[in-house]
Amino acid sequence: MKLVYQKKEDCCGCSACYSACTNQAITMKPDEEGFLYPTVDQSRCIDCGRCTAICPVTYEGHFKESSTPRIYAARHKSQEVLWKSTSGGAFTAISDVILGQNGVIYGADYDENLRVFHQRAETPEERDRMRISKYVQSDMRDTYTQIKGDLKEGRMVLFTGTPCQTAGLRGFMGNSPLAERLYICDLICHSIPSPLIWEEYKCLLERENGGKLVSVQFRSKKHGWSRKNSNKGFLFTTDRSPEIKEDDRFYQLFFGVGAISRPSCSQCRFADIHRASDITIADYFGIEKYSPESYNPLGVSLIMVNSIKGSDLYNQCKQDLFEEERPMEESLKEQHRLSQPSQVLENRHLFWENYKQFGFEYVTW
Ligand SMILES: Cc1cc2nc3c(=O)[nH]c(=O)nc-3n(C[C@H](O)[C@H](O)[C@H](O)COP(=O)(O)OP(=O)(O)OC[C@H]3O[C@@H](n4cnc5c(N)ncnc54)[C@H](O)[C@@H]3O)c2cc1C
Repeated sequence: MKLVYQKKEDCCGCSACYSACTNQAITMKPDEEGFLYPTVDQSRCIDCGRCTAICPVTYEGHFKESSTPRIYAARHKSQEVLWKSTSGGAFTAISDVILGQNGVIYGADYDENLRVFHQRAETPEERDRMRISKYVQSDMRDTYTQIKGDLKEGRMVLFTGTPCQTAGLRGFMGNSPLAERLYICDLICHSIPSPLIWEEYKCLLERENGGKLVSVQFRSKKHGWSRKNSNKGFLFTTDRSPEIKEDDRFYQLFFGVGAISRPSCSQCRFADIHRASDITIADYFGIEKYSPESYNPLGVSLIMVNSIKGSDLYNQCKQDLFEEERPMEESLKEQHRLSQPSQVLENRHLFWENYKQFGFEYVTW
């Protein structure tokens, strides 16, 4: 196998190929934009074809459910959970069901250098670290293999991630009977930003403010929860200035300039009402127009129940939520990523050329 993918738009960086390679011939390496891609050690490759056969981008149907999802507007009954969640706290309600049955949760967390990677949680405290959207592509490392290990030991597992990561997990699991105890939850995903630009941004904040960053938070509810404010409220502290500061330049690069997302996001195969997951969570933006009584200024989740397993999970977490079923048309109208990928910026390459030539500060101003 010379290459696992033909062009960058065809690789979402989920790491399924890396995890599935029985001969350890594949390594995930960052490109010049900081996104991970598989590279093949030809001396180890036995050309079995497993890596390409399970790739969620090229697999016919992309491991998506064929049934039509049911859609709910929901918010957690606990005010504390609402404050500490991005939207309406759906992730906490869903993951509590699994933790309550001695299960394991996998989701995106920060390491000690505030890099984003997938982590394993067995306790509510470990799970709480996964709360809040991190607008950086998470490094999956050996998550899929770890999940299989947990399933083999009879544990129930909930995996949460972007739509392509959940599809990658489905590809990796194949028809394994172990998947019976695996629950998969994805997010409606705008697109996923570059880990390299995230590193640059953290360094810039440290240079400007002095000291080392000790905490960061995207999507704080400092300005309230609304679509309008979803690109505001990034908070951080450094060890030299413990007062909480706010800065929105990373959001501007992500949502405004729109140049720092992974190339494959512009051709996302998962921007669809049919999902490669049992349950999908997102922001129920616009709920105030359709059902004012379901609106809450601290956030409302959109929950899509995509499969029988998803329905089973949803029924078990419902008691922690104020919830109502809503028509799909509302979500199709409000959530463009349910029908089409995010648009690629026409001169995206200019951003990256300027970055390479003049550095990060130049492209930030
Ligand atoms: C990159 C990105 C793009 C998004 N785009 C949209 C969008 O276009 N429309 C929309 O309505 N919602 C979007 N969301 C989802 C939304 O922001 C909330 O994450 C979601 O509603 C869950 O909120 P909550 O209150 O239930 O959970 P929270 O408690 O906030 O839980 C966060 C959940 O998100 C997961 N997560 C966080 N960061 C990452 C990451 N980098 N990679 C993988 N998983 C991650 C965690 O594992 C956890 O399961 C996006 C999220 C991310 C990370």
